[in-house]
Amino acid sequence: MLTNISCRRCGELETADHIFLHCAFTRRIWSASIWRNEFILTDTSTLATIFLESANYINLPPLGIKETIFPWICWAIWTARNYLIFENRNFEPTDILSKAIANAREWNASQLPGLDPPIARNPRLPPTLTITTEPACFTDAAWHSSTNRAGCGWYILTPEKTITLQGTRMFEHISSPLMAEALAIRSALLHALDAGITLICIKSDCQALINALSSKYHSADIYGIIRDIEALSYRFSRISFSFIPRSQNSMADTLAKSAMYSAFPN
Ligand SMILES: [Zn+2]
Repeated sequence: MLTNISCRRCGELETADHIFLHCAFTRRIWSASIWRNEFILTDTSTLATIFLESANYINLPPLGIKETIFPWICWAIWTARNYLIFENRNFEPTDILSKAIANAREWNASQLPGLDPPIARNPRLPPTLTITTEPACFTDAAWHSSTNRAGCGWYILTPEKTITLQGTRMFEHISSPLMAEALAIRSALLHALDAGITLICIKSDCQALINALSSKYHSADIYGIIRDIEALSYRFSRISFSFIPRSQNSMADTLAKSAMYSAFPN
């Protein structure tokens, strides 16, 4: 359906070469100093040739990524283009670059478990790339098997230990505690996005859910909610999910129970 084949950013014909290389917007991304070698982009460069050459590019050390970051930037350009077209959300070149770097690091970390130090403690990062501590979002759910009712609770704690946001929600017809926990995370993400929060570290005491979020294979009952959580995750500039013991999650637990037993669900 070729209803509109022009670049949403500049109006020129939208080809792969244009999106990934030649659009004035894209050139602002490539103009960042990313590689040790010079990135030579001429008007006749094609994505195919640059892609082949990129295997030899060496990232500058501050990126902390061994393999070339070229494909990650292409992926970030593509997803940003889709956000612009389908959700009317615009990202700046610096956002796109940050997202590419974050994705590449995340990928690297998951390929070599235990060998690379966690990103947040990487001492080689220059000040501009320093990872600040995200606000922690504690989530929990309570679930009643006889009523199939679930209460979800969450609150956000800043690194300075201030609670900036909290919420509860009650759901009916919930088939498992795992689904309830997943709904708690989804509700918390929606609330955080509404409040304009873009950095977040989700904490849950449900190990099965944290595992499910990092796995490709989801059981059918929570598949849709997990996909929702994944989709919402892309709207944060940085997000992580981590397990915490139940003993550290008592306030979210209290919120969740209060929601489940609330006589007037909202
Ligand atoms: Zn363009």
